[in-house]
Amino acid sequence: MSEYVKSFIAHLKAKNPGEPEFHQAVEEVVESLSLVLDRYPEYRAAKILERIVEPERVIIFRVPWMDDQGEIHVNRGFRVQMNGAIGPYKGGLRFHPSVNLGILKFLAFEQVFKNSLTTLPMGGGKGGSDFDPKGKSDNEVMRFCQSFMSELFRHIGSDTDVPAGDIGVGGREIGFLFGQYKKLRNEFTGVLTGKGLNWGGSLIRPEATGYGCVYFASEMLKARRESLEGKICLVSGSGNVAQFTVEKINQFGGKVVTLSDSNGYIYDEEGIDKKKLDFVMELKNVKRGRIKEYVDKYPKAVFTPIDPKQDYDPLWNHKAHCAFPSATQNEINGKDAQNLVKNGVYVVAEGANMPTTLDGVKVFLDAKILFGPGKAANAGGVATSGLEMAQNSMRMPWTRDEVDNRLHLIMKEIHKTCVDVAERFGTPGNYVNGANIGGFLKVADAMMDQGLV
Ligand code: NAP
Repeated sequence: MSEYVKSFIAHLKAKNPGEPEFHQAVEEVVESLSLVLDRYPEYRAAKILERIVEPERVIIFRVPWMDDQGEIHVNRGFRVQMNGAIGPYKGGLRFHPSVNLGILKFLAFEQVFKNSLTTLPMGGGKGGSDFDPKGKSDNEVMRFCQSFMSELFRHIGSDTDVPAGDIGVGGREIGFLFGQYKKLRNEFTGVLTGKGLNWGGSLIRPEATGYGCVYFASEMLKARRESLEGKICLVSGSGNVAQFTVEKINQFGGKVVTLSDSNGYIYDEEGIDKKKLDFVMELKNVKRGRIKEYVDKYPKAVFTPIDPKQDYDPLWNHKAHCAFPSATQNEINGKDAQNLVKNGVYVVAEGANMPTTLDGVKVFLDAKILFGPGKAANAGGVATSGLEMAQNSMRMPWTRDEVDNRLHLIMKEIHKTCVDVAERFGTPGNYVNGANIGGFLKVADAMMDQGLV
């Protein structure tokens, strides 16, 4: 690490204390960017790095709501508008008890580079709340969403900031949020993506992140003249990203043997085929149940609960070819990464945002496996959100095939950018550098063009 990068990171940590995920995300990007700053000192002179880590705006607000028993609760709402150099802020809302400012800043920072990679005109943002939708009734979730939007509506708009879903925010929540926005503003616009099909949503948006991640993995394999056919795959999570990752892997002839949630994971040696996936979708999206119920239905599978005392996750310790972490940040640590490599995994495509710790990433890069970082591999979700925005602006929906073809093309384009840029900066095959630098250049040039704002 150069002296400049070292002192940059030290300064960032001092200025943003208590935000370890944000420090981690910046550190990973800045290490790649040192290759650019050495070659193009004008970015350094314009203090692009110092500006790009400082959110353009952060909104923090109170979200009071009442449960079904009449008791009052108070949560905290956030929106981080990180960088609007190449388009309106765009990025999901996360409802999860772990949400805090540091986590949302890390996600918003990643989003800036990811959105730039999609080739579409979208700036980066992220938001959410420490509200936990788990175990809440539909009415409680609705009252929370209405209260959340009663403040957020002032700060967003179809040409300003267009939020979407993320952990804990699916179609149900987007519906309640959109309804309240529409009521307060008295306008029907594409202010949120992930909307229902009858009211401005795009076909393929629910599938997009998972499908896109599998398209990206398949491009990485194609570069080695291989395919997903017959590959054994480990998938974590069992939410939106995980479900459609499994669906597309199955369509490509691979076999998925794991799924998880925050209580533990299931291992099904026979593979999670279409019928079993339908069961998981019903369990998670309709019944809102737990993944351990999978073994009640399919007793040959094994459920292993999370053991907080263990310093590794046994999900990543099975023989396989590919891994698709699709739950949350930092779910693969250095030891997990070593276990994966030891067990024969040589393709890792990150469906989740920053699921691998910095030492885990180092293990993958040192082993020279095909490692697709989240900001490239999971960009299909936001790319399709961009396509939803385009359809809303035209007031014209596209067919399923049209959206899917565009998504596939975008993922191929992102893959090509990563490969070309990594090579141009002297690190062929390093998708981390390719994604970080490829995403950075477009935003940095736009910032240079637009002056000191
Ligand atoms: P989701 O539908 O809410 O599913 C999240 C899944 O991860 C659930 O199975 C959840 O289990 C599990 N999980 C969440 N937090 C966890 C934790 N702290 N420990 C263990 N498991 C945990 O969310 P999603 O949309 O699939 O998002 C998953 C990841 O993909 C996130 O990193 C998100 O930022 C990223 N991502 C999503 C999109 C998108 O379009 N949705 C796009 C790009 C990236 P529980 O049910 O037990 O909580």
